[in-house]
Amino acid sequence: MIKTVAEVLLPVDEVLRIKKRRIEPDDKKEGMKRISIVTGVHGDELEGQYVCFELARRIEEKKECLNGVVDIYPAMNPLGIDSITRGIPAFDLDMNRIFPGNADGNMTESLAANIIKDISGSDVVLDIHASNIYLTEIPQIRINELHEKELIPLAQQCNVDFIWVHGASTVLESTLAYSLNSTGTPCLVVEMGVGMRITKEYGDQLVEGILNLMKSIGIWKGKVRASRKAIVSKKADDVCFLNAASGGLFIPGVKHWERLKKGDIIGRIIDPLSGKVLENVISPIDGILFTIRDYPIVDEGSLIGRLLKEEVVAV
Ligand SMILES: [Zn+2]
Repeated sequence: MIKTVAEVLLPVDEVLRIKKRRIEPDDKKEGMKRISIVTGVHGDELEGQYVCFELARRIEEKKECLNGVVDIYPAMNPLGIDSITRGIPAFDLDMNRIFPGNADGNMTESLAANIIKDISGSDVVLDIHASNIYLTEIPQIRINELHEKELIPLAQQCNVDFIWVHGASTVLESTLAYSLNSTGTPCLVVEMGVGMRITKEYGDQLVEGILNLMKSIGIWKGKVRASRKAIVSKKADDVCFLNAASGGLFIPGVKHWERLKKGDIIGRIIDPLSGKVLENVISPIDGILFTIRDYPIVDEGSLIGRLLKEEVVAV
């Protein structure tokens, strides 16, 4: 069943509609649990599109194993997806900064309020993001420390490689996940892959994880593969940020999710005009590279990657 969750009239005749698909068992019972899969809040992040498709396909294939409600919201920011724009086009607005919204507010505020209203009450929500066009991320779940006790056990079911618990930050208060978590609907934020692309392998990995999560809370009775054991980082100094010291063209020399030793060369920043190597980007610690620069042009200070300390990886 496809349902319109929120709609607003656009200035000239068009209507902006946010839709969801609900998949339910044929023998639907009262009080069944519900999982919501949300993606496309950022219009330039597409990894979640494949996850929505593949998850639905896997569920339909063994529909008799479904024991709860699955709501799939593939395009929270449909105008952004249609126009390859991160925010809401014409409003110059990051959609993940407008929650919880206001039912009586302007267009974007009322959209946000209707979305929250529809998702609220789910037993678990996954909000799937795909980094941005500059950086590739290993499949990971990011959790605000305020909700870690409740969310880590759920995240561990999701077959991701890494769970990153970060400090509370005021800018995050206007996100969809924060709004849901602070009002009692558990929401996990997935980051994986890279903007404007689909990494099928990561999508398949997450779909296995979602089925596993569904099984752990009683929504799925089918066979699942055991979740891989995620590395959990809880301390700010577990993660080391690598920034470019000079502008130029970044040419990586290592692979994503590679274990590195202090002093290893992660890549070079080169100047195509002079033919010079402007900087060798060196690993400052022993660790594993969970974020790596995908878009080659860098300015001074641009993020090249993020490393997780070996002590955390080895636990
Ligand atoms: Zn995003």
